[in-house]
Amino acid sequence: MSKLNNKVAIITGGGSGIGRAISELFAQEGAQVHIVDLNADVAQPVVDHITSGGGQAKLHTCNVAEQTEVNRVVERIGRVDILVNNAGIAHVGNLEKCSSEDFERVFNVNVKGAYNALHAVVPVMKINGGGAILNLASIAAVVGISDRFAYSMSKGAIYAMSMSVARDYMTDNIRSNSISPARVHTPFVDGFIAKNYPGQEAEMFEKLSRSQPIGRMAKPEEIAKLALFLCSDDAGFITGNDYPIDGGFIKL
Ligand code: NAD
Repeated sequence: MSKLNNKVAIITGGGSGIGRAISELFAQEGAQVHIVDLNADVAQPVVDHITSGGGQAKLHTCNVAEQTEVNRVVERIGRVDILVNNAGIAHVGNLEKCSSEDFERVFNVNVKGAYNALHAVVPVMKINGGGAILNLASIAAVVGISDRFAYSMSKGAIYAMSMSVARDYMTDNIRSNSISPARVHTPFVDGFIAKNYPGQEAEMFEKLSRSQPIGRMAKPEEIAKLALFLCSDDAGFITGNDYPIDGGFIKL
């Protein structure tokens, strides 16, 4: 039986990587998927792929950092049962290499973007009698990855935002959880390697893979399976938690 039949799901950043895998799996499981993404060039083919296979998906080209844009999209969608706050960007650099502009850019997308979506969606979920929220944190929130000052801070904020919403809205039947992946092989990682290690892509890919305790990066589809569980009614008693999906990174 499909796990998300008749559910309306918003996936921010659903045009690439983890968001793409979540969008495709949720649509396979019967959800009406609304991809909210800045980049129509990558997101429209995802929508086309889903709909050509008989699934339901729609693209809303939108910058999650802009509150009025997000409000307009959520108004247009109407009912929302599931929100996945996945859109995110990185910045490479420690505290001294993080300018005020870098800091603002990362926080505007990763933190304010998630706030904007929550602020628009939670009142809708309350009226509808509940919903499930999933926020993409990162192991960076827990261990503070080196040379990722702004990014690690932003993911710490996501962790706290997720818990705060869980606590304040549990009696409205709204569940809120976060997941904290270690490295996942997505365009996010490929872009990082290409930009910082031109000509050494294959070696760097190997190096990054070996730096994971389990010896490889996660696949986006593996993250999507955890997302599906947490957003489905199977996880009806789970709220206010963070789930590392890290190949042993934090503890081993
Ligand atoms: P990705 O770069 O492959 O995809 C991100 C998507 O977000 C893209 O489609 C992009 O267009 C969209 N996006 C970016 N800024 C946006 C904005 N302002 N408004 C709307 N859409 C926007 O990234 P990914 O690797 O799939 O990562 C997805 C999430 O998972 C991010 O929040 C990231 O921090 C988190 N994460 C990733 C990893 C990893 O190793 N890849 C690990 C832990 C956590």
